Amino acid sequence: MPPVLYIVIPCYNEQEVLPITAPQFLGKLKQLIRERKISDLSRILFVDDGSKDKTWEIITRLSAEDIHFTGIQQSRNRGHQNAVLAGLMEARDLCDITISIDCDGQDDINAMDEMVDCYLDGCQIVYGVRKSRDTDTFFKRTTALGFYKVLNMFGVESVCNHADYRLVSSQALQAFAGFKEVNLFLRGMFPLVGFKSTSVYYDRRERLAGKSHYPLPKMINLAIDGITSLSVKPLRMITVMGLMVAFISFIGVIWSFVQALRGMTVAGWASMTCIICFVSGVQLVGIGVLGEYIGKIYLEVKQRPRYIISQRTGSLVEKNNTDQSSETGAV
Ligand code: UDP
Ligand code: MG
Repeated sequence: MPPVLYIVIPCYNEQEVLPITAPQFLGKLKQLIRERKISDLSRILFVDDGSKDKTWEIITRLSAEDIHFTGIQQSRNRGHQNAVLAGLMEARDLCDITISIDCDGQDDINAMDEMVDCYLDGCQIVYGVRKSRDTDTFFKRTTALGFYKVLNMFGVESVCNHADYRLVSSQALQAFAGFKEVNLFLRGMFPLVGFKSTSVYYDRRERLAGKSHYPLPKMINLAIDGITSLSVKPLRMITVMGLMVAFISFIGVIWSFVQALRGMTVAGWASMTCIICFVSGVQLVGIGVLGEYIGKIYLEVKQRPRYIISQRTGSLVEKNNTDQSSETGAV
């Protein structure tokens, strides 16, 4: 029996692009079913991330038209990462494999064939990696490259140029369900799950319609979240920086002492001001980084649900609506 595949697609205010890409996803699913690579029980699972436009109406219409379309709606907008998580957790008991992909047609759906082949060869996680970013603007290309460089520098293990287009088996998803953190950075978390994994390469295209929800400030936030959720390297860097400043200060103290003994303690306003400014700057950066981590701890200890499902399309079986209820073992 071929594996059951669920294609998980987060959508936020995507009424322009969904009518274009939904038939493409369906075409790909049906082709894979025809080739007997996947079962006919396979589905496309849209996750409406609290859209304010007609996205949910489109999803319900699609699911009434074809049994292969299904959808869940989040009770409000919680962001891309939480939307993908909601879809994956919804799908994990219904299928053997999931593929998460954005709904804007930027990621090449033809890479799914190779992803499924890799799964059939025994890989539990297959990362979709962008071969080229020729269609991205120079600005997007440079900032995206900087994003991966900064992540690696701060010790986050992530696959370069891989976003959230990936195949994950239900076995890996069951293991992943044990990662309870509220601060999500999926592309950095899946490498921590382990299992046999590989990458497939594809060309990144332009968005088919609508506009990006990831402008630069959001990318910077995502990078800070990624780093502070997955690495304590910045805290160590503060310690190292503190030691270095302490060492320089120690030399400064000896120097001042010697100067005092030689009777050469002429007031040095400029140097004193520089030192005070430098040290207080270093301290403020240190406090800021500590604050980031304390903020993360604050959010983690509250253990709020990471997603809340408010509606499902007809063909989906009713089950728990938040990830918290599944934590109590009700699933
Ligand atoms: N998305 C979402 N919730 C959000 C923002 C985005 O579910 O709050 C979805 C969006 O509909 C798309 C995917 O996440 O399917 C990636 O978003 P986008 O294409 O805007 O990002 P980019 O490709 O420009 O980085
Ligand atoms: Mg996009």
